[in-house]
Amino acid sequence: MSRLILFSGGVESTALMTMATPDDIALAIRPTDVKDVQAALTYKQSSIDAISKFFNISVHYSEYVLPRIQTKTSHVHQMKMFIGMVHLMVSRYPSIVEVWCGRNCDEPSPAIAPMIEQHMAAWAILNPNVPFLHPLDHLSKVEQMVLIPKEIRHHISSCVTHNNCGYCFKCKEYT
Ligand SMILES: [Zn+2]
Repeated sequence: MSRLILFSGGVESTALMTMATPDDIALAIRPTDVKDVQAALTYKQSSIDAISKFFNISVHYSEYVLPRIQTKTSHVHQMKMFIGMVHLMVSRYPSIVEVWCGRNCDEPSPAIAPMIEQHMAAWAILNPNVPFLHPLDHLSKVEQMVLIPKEIRHHISSCVTHNNCGYCFKCKEYT
């Protein structure tokens, strides 16, 4: 029995890793296009490697290669990208009994909440036996950071410079 954990190496998904067991599977989506700003915004391979090794959770890597990026990628596309792969993973791995997705108590923003609700309604119809959960969404981003062991926090990748600059809008979310 496994939980499928959507893992980016950021704060919320790393907080979920603190609750994982070795039977669980982390799913990371590796950017294939440097122009895919949303997918590549904070992705850092060394963070994925270090955090998953620390928690002893195996990572399944997926890549999307689209023929052409027509528009600037938005959060909507990112969610559809993850959801698309999660549908495939659940259909191919019967051991997956739950999907865990990182989220904090300030998400989703009102602007994207209707889209998220549509996705979740569709998920429940298509995968009625596999709950799609946000186990830590009662906590803020800062509160979730506190759950993460101090020795691994510096590996978290949540920075548009990929260097934990402390000044960009992603870093400002928790510093
Ligand atoms: Zn930064």
